[in-house]
Amino acid sequence: MTADHDALRRAVVNVERRTLVPYRAEYIWIDGSEPTQKLRSKTKIVPDGQEPPIWGFDGSSTNQAPGNESDCVLRPVKIIPDPIRGGDDVLVLAEVLTVDLEPHPTNTRAACVEVAEKYASHDPWFGIEQEYTFFKDGRPYGFPATGFPAPQGGYYCGVGADEIFGRHIVEDHTKYCMDAGLAISGTNAEVMIGQWEFQIGPLGPVEVADQVWLARWLLYRTAEDYDISAHLDPKPVKGDWNGAGAHTNFSTKEMRESYDAIIAACEALGKRHDLHIKNYGAEIEHRLTGLHETAPWTHFNYGVSDRGASVRIPWQVAKEGKGYIEDRRPNANMDPYVVTRLITETVCGAFEGEI
Ligand code: ADP
Ligand code: MN
Ligand code: MN
Ligand code: MN
Repeated sequence: MTADHDALRRAVVNVERRTLVPYRAEYIWIDGSEPTQKLRSKTKIVPDGQEPPIWGFDGSSTNQAPGNESDCVLRPVKIIPDPIRGGDDVLVLAEVLTVDLEPHPTNTRAACVEVAEKYASHDPWFGIEQEYTFFKDGRPYGFPATGFPAPQGGYYCGVGADEIFGRHIVEDHTKYCMDAGLAISGTNAEVMIGQWEFQIGPLGPVEVADQVWLARWLLYRTAEDYDISAHLDPKPVKGDWNGAGAHTNFSTKEMRESYDAIIAACEALGKRHDLHIKNYGAEIEHRLTGLHETAPWTHFNYGVSDRGASVRIPWQVAKEGKGYIEDRRPNANMDPYVVTRLITETVCGAFEGEI
C-alpha cells in the first residue's frame, strides 16, 4: 500500500467508523471463583467490517471447566465504546456458555433475563449504590503503614488531602463511565478513609446489572494505571470502621404510583429475608452487625428514613406517598444479576399473588 493510499484509507475511516480497519474488542466475563466471582478479560482484534463474534476461553484457568474439557464459550451481550483505548475500540460484556451453547452453571445472567421477562409488565427499576475500597501496599489507601488514621467522622463526602485518598481515580472512572454511555448517576467519598461509592441507574434488572459489572471492570482497570487496586470486600477493616455495601434502590410501576404498593413490597421482602441474605454476598454477617448504619443480618425490618433498617423508605417517598425503597442489605461483593432477580421475583411475585 502506498503512503497516499494509506492516507486516503484513514480519511475514509474517519467518516465510516469501524468499517475499514481492524479494532480491539476487550471481552469481559465473569469467572467461576468461589465464593465470589471475579471479572476476567482479554483482547480480540476484530477484522475490518465485522461485529465482535462468539469467542471462547480456557475454563480450566477460571474454575469453570476441567482441564480435559476446558473450552467455554463467550457470547457478547452488550457492546459499548472503550473509553480508555478510545477510537473504534469497544468493550464487550460476554456471558459464559457451555460448548452446547447453554448457560454455564456460573452464568447468573440467564436466570435474571428469564425473571425480567416474566415480570416485565411491572416495569421494575433499580438504582445500585456500589461502594468499594482502594488498596495500596496491602492496606486501605490512606491508612498509615502502622496504626490507624483518625477515627471516622470527617471522611464521608470530605474534601482535602488529609481526608481524601483516590479522588484522581474516581474522577477518571466517572468520566470513563460517562464516555462509555453507562447510566452512572453520582459518586461520593464514603465513611471510611479510602472508601468510595458510585451509583448506576435507575434501569431495568438486567441492564443495571450489566452496567454495574462493566463499571466495576472500568474501576479496576482505571485504578491499575495508578498502581492501586479497588476491592469490594464487605468489611475491609474489622472494628469501628464502616463496611462496604451495595444498597439497591427498587421500584415497580405500582410503587411509583401508590404507597400501599411501597408497603406491600417491604412486607414481601420480609417474608423471604433468609433467602435474600444468603444470596446478597459472601461474609454478609461480618458487615450486617447492627452497627455502622446496618440492621443485623438475623433480623428484618423497614422504616422511613431509617439507616439502621434492612429496608429504608426515603422520606420524600413517605411524603409523596409513592416512589421507591432502598434495600440496604446487599454487600458490595454481591452479584447484581442475583440481587435484581431475587428482588424482582419476591416483590413482583407477591404482587401477582404467587408468594
Ligand atoms: P443514598 O441517599 O442512599 O446515598 P443515592 O443517591 O446514593 O442514595 O442512590 C439512590 C439511587 O436510587 C440512585 O442510583 C437513583 O438512580 C436510584 N433511584 C432513584 N429513583 C428510583 C426509583 N424510582 N426506582 C429505583 N431506583 C431509583
Ligand atoms: Mn449513596
Ligand atoms: Mn453509601
Ligand atoms: Mn444508600
